[in-house]
Amino acid sequence: MKLSDINKTALLISALRISSIVSIPFCLLWVCFNPSDWPWLLGGILWVRVYVQPLVRSMMLHRYFSHHSFNVKPWLHKFFCISSIFAGVSPVTAAAVHRFHHKHSDTPKDPHSPLNGILSSLSYNRKLVLGFNYSGFMDKATVPFDLLRDKPAMFVHKNLAVLCLGTMVLCWLVSWKLLVFGYVFGVGLALAETGILGLVYGHKKIWGSYRNFDTDDCSLNTKWINWWYAEGFHNNHHAHPNAWNQSMKQGEIDYVAYAIKYIFAERDTLKEYEYCQKI
Ligand SMILES: [Zn+2]
Ligand SMILES: [Zn+2]
Repeated sequence: MKLSDINKTALLISALRISSIVSIPFCLLWVCFNPSDWPWLLGGILWVRVYVQPLVRSMMLHRYFSHHSFNVKPWLHKFFCISSIFAGVSPVTAAAVHRFHHKHSDTPKDPHSPLNGILSSLSYNRKLVLGFNYSGFMDKATVPFDLLRDKPAMFVHKNLAVLCLGTMVLCWLVSWKLLVFGYVFGVGLALAETGILGLVYGHKKIWGSYRNFDTDDCSLNTKWINWWYAEGFHNNHHAHPNAWNQSMKQGEIDYVAYAIKYIFAERDTLKEYEYCQKI
């Protein structure tokens, strides 16, 4: 592969992702030596807990763009598209890679199965940069044609680097702490949680994990992971990928499903599944 084949956007976004991961120990060390700044760290963590992880990553990028598990009004669709800059990934790329993961779960072709090595699972983004180009269109069967026809999604996809850099400049104009503890830390913490709790321990046994469905892959449910980062019922999800509500047994609480049903989705178009709890 020639250097010219490597997409510039991919390199810029990879640089953002690497610096976002580095920002996690930096922010922790900073507040150790500058204790008066702990509210900034708390604010960054709250930003991830309330918005980036449950809404941007779980609800928008995963359930909405990747699986079309519910419909929203056109203005909310645009808001979902632009929100993906807070996760540092375009909705088109997220959907392409994730649909490929579902098609090839836990096989050698899976872009982030822990069975192919935990490090490989965590660093799957390098495959997008170096091996498959940033579009993530690794398999014709999982090309997200729906999103390729979607103007707002393609606008964010094509201009992701500029949009992310613009957001960073705006944050920096307010305060460098908003840039580092807010935007960069937010991208990094959500990325690290998704990598470790989702990509690895969504398919690898950990304390508390169990299966409800005998799927062809190694997907697992783990309640404490779900409370932590909103995507813990991964076996339920692999069994029924298009369900907007991932809780399927007594005692499983999917709080993102409440947000979908009562706040964001167009209720009259919300598809009910027989295996979904009524909430
Ligand atoms: Zn999975
Ligand atoms: Zn999925």
